Amino acid sequence: MNKERNKKVLVLTSGGLDSILTLNIMKKTGLDVVGIHFLTWFNIPKHMLPEDLSGEWTSFDGFRIFNLDISKEYTAIMLSPLYGYGSAANPCIDCKILFLKKAKELLDSFGADFVATGEVVGQRPMTSRSTIMKMIEKKSGLKGYLLRPLSARLLEPTVPEELGWVKREDLYGISGRGRKQQMELASLFAVSDYPPPAGGCLLTEKNFRTRFMDLVSHSSNITINDLTVLRYGRHFRFSSKCKLVVGRNQKDNDTLERIKWGNIRIDVVNMPGPFSLMKWSEEIFHLRSALRIIARYSGYSGAPEKIVFRIEYGNKIKIISYIGKPDKILSDEKIIR
Ligand code: SF4
Repeated sequence: MNKERNKKVLVLTSGGLDSILTLNIMKKTGLDVVGIHFLTWFNIPKHMLPEDLSGEWTSFDGFRIFNLDISKEYTAIMLSPLYGYGSAANPCIDCKILFLKKAKELLDSFGADFVATGEVVGQRPMTSRSTIMKMIEKKSGLKGYLLRPLSARLLEPTVPEELGWVKREDLYGISGRGRKQQMELASLFAVSDYPPPAGGCLLTEKNFRTRFMDLVSHSSNITINDLTVLRYGRHFRFSSKCKLVVGRNQKDNDTLERIKWGNIRIDVVNMPGPFSLMKWSEEIFHLRSALRIIARYSGYSGAPEKIVFRIEYGNKIKIISYIGKPDKILSDEKIIR
């Protein structure tokens, strides 16, 4: 007997409540459900790098989630978003279109029939007006094949609804910024382990915007690692070609050690101190200034004690000692806040 296969949906998951509910709603309708988490340098836990997760299957609440690193494509839209930035460095419209385009590309390889997201009408200022949602759907190439189960009853019926793969009455008509209805749904699905609503996207943070604007105003060929490093440590600008990043704590130090950025790696070897990376333009006074700044953030208390640095520059390693004052004024002048 020729039994028709079950329909399958790819659910874009961010780990937030709305996407957790979407996974559950889709499962309840009887569909095969696969979660997709698109990773970039900015949307994963702080001290992880995309390569730690990419290509891995993880499971969440009984759902299988596939992690895929799209940092490269993201960097391109981040640097020149067609629809501009939101209030900080968040290119939300381009971001949504990219995520959905990538999901569309994955449909065949996962044997899936359509895509679902946890988007809610009216929840976000930039991307969740219904006209913008419609435009995003069209631009992504998913027209008709993108279901937003939490708000579906407020939107035009999709192909999965028209073809009876999903019943409209199993979907919801939630809108706005409140979470009351989502929390009620969470208890209906016995979902209790979900993150708080705020937090959210790093790109919407004002401090991140400052670092990002500093980067774009001083560099032309910006790489993924130029952006990745913005998440860690303290940043100091010496000139358009010279910048220092000083680890703020042990976790920052460990992560910075893993990032290939800059042309100098500096460690403090005779006392507790930060690990630092530097893009150095070979002016010796900038390197001296950098060492005085690093001294400030180490256990160094000044002469007659000496602080010893291990400096890796290309394939050379130098050990340099410094006796003097740790420099607070210099660090405050050059820090990118
Ligand atoms: S808030 Fe961040 S993740 Fe969400 S759409 Fe905007 S840029 Fe993308």
